[in-house]
Amino acid sequence: MKGESSLWNGKVRLRRFLNQSVRPGWIVLNLLLFTTVSAQDWSFTPHAVQGKVHMLEPANTFGNVGVFAGDDGVLIIDSHFQPAVGELLNQVAKISTAEVRFLVNTHVHPDHIGGNGLLADYGVTVVAHNSVRLAMLSELRIPRRGGTFRPRPEANALPVLTYTDAISFHFNDEEVRIFHAPPAHTGGDSFIHFTGSDVLHLGDVFRTRRYPIVDEFNGGSFLGMIEAMELAISLAGPNTKVIPGHGSGFSDRAGMEEYHQLLLTLKERVQLAIEQEQPLSKLLAAGLTHDLDVYWGDDAGWTAADLLPVIYGELSQ
Ligand SMILES: [Zn+2]
Repeated sequence: MKGESSLWNGKVRLRRFLNQSVRPGWIVLNLLLFTTVSAQDWSFTPHAVQGKVHMLEPANTFGNVGVFAGDDGVLIIDSHFQPAVGELLNQVAKISTAEVRFLVNTHVHPDHIGGNGLLADYGVTVVAHNSVRLAMLSELRIPRRGGTFRPRPEANALPVLTYTDAISFHFNDEEVRIFHAPPAHTGGDSFIHFTGSDVLHLGDVFRTRRYPIVDEFNGGSFLGMIEAMELAISLAGPNTKVIPGHGSGFSDRAGMEEYHQLLLTLKERVQLAIEQEQPLSKLLAAGLTHDLDVYWGDDAGWTAADLLPVIYGELSQ
């Protein structure tokens, strides 16, 4: 009962929050609060993707946010970081005045789950793959800089609804299918298919203008990423739009095919080097990706030098 009443209170608080959020005074307060918390830019650029789906692209290039909105309510994909939640909800309120009911986490990384606790306190139901919840019961480990740690998330940030293979939402006159992708960016990646709007959200399995991140600490796999992208492409029609986990603007089937080709090219080049019995150090010194770096090297924190050892390791097994 306590849970039910706090959930109800949360919904009331969220409605108040959304009602207040359009008032200029509240926005000023919000800006003051967040600018004192950090110098980080927490603003978003909104994109109307297709049908009932929007994308909020953060200025700081951390995780993109998906928004599915209609008369029955709003479902958000990924919660970015906690200090961004106020601006995130301001943007959602410009798209729809309906209640924010659900949040789906595509995977466990902090820039995709950071706002969970605050949104849950407002009454939003947090949904994710089982393994995301499991990973959140411990200190988080992320792949950058050889594996760095983040504190264990607060209890209120945990998903309250988890699934194993797939789960569907039926609202706003549309089926939203959420299903477990093959191990790729992590072992707990969710793909979201907005079947009526003809939109896919692929989380960090798909990044535009950036080399793929394979998080080996959380069950990711480079070969699985190829398989996952083939699955996503098989679901896409000629007009399908695709939200990447990171990258400017939304993409489409051709964008996924281009990225898939990158994965195959990387696999082929590393495979050849292994067949020629090149040690990893020689491979890294050989400039194997120089021709690709100009287009795909848009993330200084994760370059070919971070990715190639992962591919080498997997293909050497
Ligand atoms: Zn990620």
